Amino acid sequence: MRDIITLSCTECKRRNYTTTKNKRRTPGRLEFKKYCPFDRRHTVHRETK
Ligand SMILES: [Zn+2]
Repeated sequence: MRDIITLSCTECKRRNYTTTKNKRRTPGRLEFKKYCPFDRRHTVHRETK
């Protein structure tokens, strides 16, 4: 039971990445540091619906 989630940049609010997660094992919002091509640097990306 892994669901596809979308990650959006907290700086420019663009949705740059998708990933999967197990909702049972990981409740709440995920945060990842990823490279944002729009900001041209690493920013925090947060799970969105
Ligand atoms: Zn960005």
